[in-house]
Amino acid sequence: MSERMPGTGGPALNRLVTPFYEAAGRGLLVIQQCDDCGYHRHVPTDICYNCLSWKWHWDESLPQTGTVYSYSWVDRPMNEHINDGKVYNFAVVELDGITGNAVRLLTNVYDVEKDSLYVGLRVKAAFDPVAGKYASPGGYGPAGADIAATDVGPIALVVFEPLEGAAA
Ligand SMILES: [Zn+2]
Repeated sequence: MSERMPGTGGPALNRLVTPFYEAAGRGLLVIQQCDDCGYHRHVPTDICYNCLSWKWHWDESLPQTGTVYSYSWVDRPMNEHINDGKVYNFAVVELDGITGNAVRLLTNVYDVEKDSLYVGLRVKAAFDPVAGKYASPGGYGPAGADIAATDVGPIALVVFEPLEGAAA
């Protein structure tokens, strides 16, 4: 797997998103799922957008695969610290195995070049560990107080790589 892009920092942690990154730290992509209607949702929220239930759990049974929905290349990083000044991409990946409306993650696709990343590319989740003592920008929004990076287990970013054998 590719190295994590240097200089991009770590995620902002709060009580809703931290388990997502901790699961990634264990090599698993999890998505919030409503206990009552079964709909998945992301980014994490307290209440189901479909049935307004407050009951939910982390679905650990997803197939860990998806399809590139959209992407963009950054040809000129804002500074030389981001990915060592080299070209990189942002991508939106639509996940497989979702109940309810599509779940799409804003992420990066690793191990691709400009001519091998395209809308419709089949990809699998990969996990890019975040150093244990990074400077978290802190939590935000209705999820409440900041969670310091030092209060959580190993975390990782969820990125994607091409599925082996994916047709071009
Ligand atoms: Zn629901």
